[in-house]
Amino acid sequence: MDLTSLERLPMWIGGRAFSPSTARYGEVTNPATGEVIRHVPYANGADVDAAVAAAAAAFRSWSKSPSLRRARVLMKFRDLLDRHKKDLAKIVTQEHGKTLADAEGSVTRGMEVVEFASGIPHLLKGEHSDNVGTDVDSWSIRMPVGVCAGITPFNFPAMVPMWMFPIALGCGNTFILKPSERDPTLSLRLAELLKEAGLPDGVFNVVHGDKEAVDALLAHPDVKAISFVGSTPIAKYIYETGARHGKRVQALGGAKNHAIVMPDADLDYATEAIIGAGYGSAGERCMAISAVVAVGDVADSLVERLAKRAHKVTTGPGDAPDSEMGPVITCAARDRITGLIDRGQSEGATLVVDGRKPSIAGHPNGYFVGPTLFDRVTPDMTIYREEIFGPVLAVLRVPSLNDAIAMINANPFANGAAIFTRSGHAARRFEQDAEVGMAGINIPIPVPMSFYSFGGWRNSLFGDLHVHGMDGVRFYTRTKAVTSRWPDDGSEGPGFHMPVMG
Ligand code: NAD
Repeated sequence: MDLTSLERLPMWIGGRAFSPSTARYGEVTNPATGEVIRHVPYANGADVDAAVAAAAAAFRSWSKSPSLRRARVLMKFRDLLDRHKKDLAKIVTQEHGKTLADAEGSVTRGMEVVEFASGIPHLLKGEHSDNVGTDVDSWSIRMPVGVCAGITPFNFPAMVPMWMFPIALGCGNTFILKPSERDPTLSLRLAELLKEAGLPDGVFNVVHGDKEAVDALLAHPDVKAISFVGSTPIAKYIYETGARHGKRVQALGGAKNHAIVMPDADLDYATEAIIGAGYGSAGERCMAISAVVAVGDVADSLVERLAKRAHKVTTGPGDAPDSEMGPVITCAARDRITGLIDRGQSEGATLVVDGRKPSIAGHPNGYFVGPTLFDRVTPDMTIYREEIFGPVLAVLRVPSLNDAIAMINANPFANGAAIFTRSGHAARRFEQDAEVGMAGINIPIPVPMSFYSFGGWRNSLFGDLHVHGMDGVRFYTRTKAVTSRWPDDGSEGPGFHMPVMG
């Protein structure tokens, strides 16, 4: 189906497009033009019930199917993603605004999780011990948890859902995706491709919506696990509410990622890396660099280089070949970001590059903010304390590496951090002492590959397990430990004491 030609999007339940009973619909806009391009239904409780019923019914046979059969569906899905990568990227760019190259990259990063999950027969292998007692063997098996739900943010409509469902499905679970209502179309295309890959009906479902749909999933007794990625206040709410309803929950929240620049760093390299990491995807990445911590006397030359380079960034519609940075997601997001820039100025930071009024030819109504650079930011300022989630870099000046690490560790967010240095000693100190979930050494956005796990610490993640990698397999399975003996006669009497090895 050509989803982009529809005026009203359906949901996806039981292996087909589903017309919901809700009367509530929201607008989906193209952020580069400001036009409303389609409408998305906001599921009510009955719509969520329909999705959970389909997923629960499909669980019985899917969970019992051989893991190799499930892996083969994922392998076919992977090939379809690869084949349709460019079209998928177009949908992402149309609704999110990021450049086509960036959108395609995000599909590839999602595809890598599918590749990891295609090894599920190996990943599900448990432990085995002979003779834990005389003629007694013990082993563990990983079993699926049941119906799982994923609630995802607007900034990665392809990649973030694919952090979750390939592993959940590989482990034998069924899944309900509640994508962001800002860019919902891609999720339906993923559902179509999964069906084409041979996924049985009901194993993967999509419900659209807002808090009403999310609350229905959180309270539904047949939903056993919730994966969430989004802002910190909602992540905390999801974690607490899901746990209160007896579900396992992993809830990834917001971020304020720091890049330390040491006086011995290669400044040309660091400048390019920080510009890409701060302004790529208009700063709307949970791993975007937003705080640059200049150590010692490096600040003046670093700020000069960053400013020169920021002026050269081409801001424009994501589908224009020369655009390096697209618009932000909504008009409200643009106004919030420019309001925070106002605030930074009024609180005393030095505004070196001002992106509040970019002029984008032919796109007068797009939600654009140009690259913005502040110097002499201090930790008490709003632009440092809040997650801006826009193309705004803030330079903070500190005397030493110790001060830089202390600043990172005092921040409530703890997703990623990076250091730029030529010193192995400084790099190792940073690696050991920076209290964050993901650390980069001369790598500005240290997003782990799919076979490692992704997640932050402190207010950047609520729950015990990160997404994908082996943490993903642990999250989507529960372990059963089996102890077994095969006596050759029934001569042994009852045992009234605690069994001990013998
Ligand atoms: P958001 O928290 O507004 O929305 C995320 C999801 O929660 C959406 O599906 C939305 O419909 C739902 N939601 C929104 N309000 C809700 C409510 N009151 N009750 C229940 N559900 C609700 O986040 P966003 O604006 O879509 O995405 C940007 C945020 O996501 C940023 O804070 C960013 O740092 C974060 N993010 C984090 C990671 C990570 O890995 N830690 C990755 C990507 C994005």
